[in-house]
Amino acid sequence: MSEQEKTYQFLYENYPWPDPGTERGCPYSGIALQLNEQRPGYNGKPWTCPKCIHYFSEADLDNPGQYKGKDCDYTLAQKAADSAKAAGSDD
Ligand SMILES: [Zn+2]
Repeated sequence: MSEQEKTYQFLYENYPWPDPGTERGCPYSGIALQLNEQRPGYNGKPWTCPKCIHYFSEADLDNPGQYKGKDCDYTLAQKAADSAKAAGSDD
């Protein structure tokens, strides 16, 4: 077996895929994640957040502590919008 073949095999089987119909939330914002199509040649993680465009694997989502207290672009934008609203809420 060539090294190239081995690498491809590793990438292809890298991430376990959830059952269709599984629903999970973004560990940053809690927004429902999009389950990507498992198609040949796609080596990415199964989940994408439609807001922050981060990719997540099942293992990532099973270990939410690594995201605790952290922000994605979307939660940062939400916080900025909230504080802007709080600052200008005199009307
Ligand atoms: Zn997100």
